[in-house]
Amino acid sequence: MTETTRRDEIAAGLAEVEARVAEACRAAGRAREELTLIAVTKTYPASDVRHLAALGVGHVGENRDQEASAKARDCADLGLAWHFIGQLQTNKARSVARYADVVHSVDRPRLVAALGAEAVRAGREITCLVQVALDDDPARGGARPRDVPAVADAVAGTGGLRLGGVMAVAPLGEEPARAFARLRQVAQAVREAHPDAGIISAGMSGDLREAVANGATHLRIGTALLGHRKPFVR
Ligand SMILES: *Cc1c(COP(=O)(O)O)cnc(C)c1O
Repeated sequence: MTETTRRDEIAAGLAEVEARVAEACRAAGRAREELTLIAVTKTYPASDVRHLAALGVGHVGENRDQEASAKARDCADLGLAWHFIGQLQTNKARSVARYADVVHSVDRPRLVAALGAEAVRAGREITCLVQVALDDDPARGGARPRDVPAVADAVAGTGGLRLGGVMAVAPLGEEPARAFARLRQVAQAVREAHPDAGIISAGMSGDLREAVANGATHLRIGTALLGHRKPFVR
């Protein structure tokens, strides 16, 4: 496929996503300006990131450090905000701290300490979201709702880090609206203790409407923008 048609394809995906976001905002009585669209570019090449930037997208999301760090380096001239949205091992904190502006998957005190130390070392400030587990599957990451306040306090008390708010992925096998309503309660509790931590990162290609209805401020959209991903091969 030529680059021009790929650009057109992404532009069409973006227009469709924006129409869905506008409709979700209308239904929820919210303004589009309350929402930040993060284009999830995992598995897609840096050239797609360039197309997105040219189309006015300012935020990109990635979930694997190796892929993300290479793409962020390739695209350093674009002035984008880089969001790390995948599960994060402590030994990757140094690498992620070099390029990530926001880490959405902070779910345990040890990771908070590692990210803070590496942010300070890199001379950067990283916005952290506490990932909330909305089901009981530990494989998907996230702090249990009752553990979230302690992780939030840890972020707020760590140099190099700024507490932004919370993030979650809707569980399998539950109505996303119900799960996002629980997330909203957790977000409110965090915000009572930390008034500036107003971010709610929720909503993907399949459930952005439910997320907008439940107070999401940041949407993480991949498939609906860029197409279906090929299965990941390590
Ligand atoms: C891949 C991914 C997304 C984007 O999902 P789509 O269904 O492709 O929109 C959002 N959030 C996280 C954490 C992801 O890993």
